[in-house]
Amino acid sequence: MECTRCGACCVAPDIAALDKPLGMRCPHLTADSLCSVYEHRPQVCRDYAPDEVCRLIEAPTLEERVQKYLDLFGLGAEAESARQQGCASMRRARGMS
Ligand code: SF4
Ligand code: SF4
Repeated sequence: MECTRCGACCVAPDIAALDKPLGMRCPHLTADSLCSVYEHRPQVCRDYAPDEVCRLIEAPTLEERVQKYLDLFGLGAEAESARQQGCASMRRARGMS
């Protein structure tokens, strides 16, 4: 499976090394779905390899792909809760606090 740089794996999963909650966009993901810290990205990002999931979540928009990813793993409700609460580091990263 080739990575199509669809961006979903930088938004949908929670990434502890980045303190990134489920369903929230990594602050390092650029508008054109590239990693702005590629040379310094955490190991978990380095280890991530495209697989069958990438095909299963294919959809026209990033939002749809993320939702399909979350639904695939039964994480929709948990992600919604995380989105509503956010977390301190993400709020800081987005200049919200
Ligand atoms: S979800 Fe899969 S296809 Fe999309 S960017 Fe990640 S590895 Fe690539
Ligand atoms: S650090 Fe880079 S590769 Fe890792 S989730 Fe963020 S944008 Fe994606």
